[in-house]
Amino acid sequence: MKKKIAVLFVSLIATLSLTACGTFKCQICEQEKSGTKHEVSMLGQTLTVCDDCYEGMQILNGLFN
Ligand SMILES: [Zn+2]
Repeated sequence: MKKKIAVLFVSLIATLSLTACGTFKCQICEQEKSGTKHEVSMLGQTLTVCDDCYEGMQILNGLFN
């Protein structure tokens, strides 16, 4: 019986941490992402971008500088 409560408790924590992370929509590739969220200022606008796109932007920045 105690074991069952422990399992319930663990799954509850797992659900809570998932909701805390949440998902966001990347404004570059327009996909729902759950990874690291980056906010990038570009042309006077703030864009929410995913990890993959952010990495790509860093590479592009390196090319232009
Ligand atoms: Zn993206």
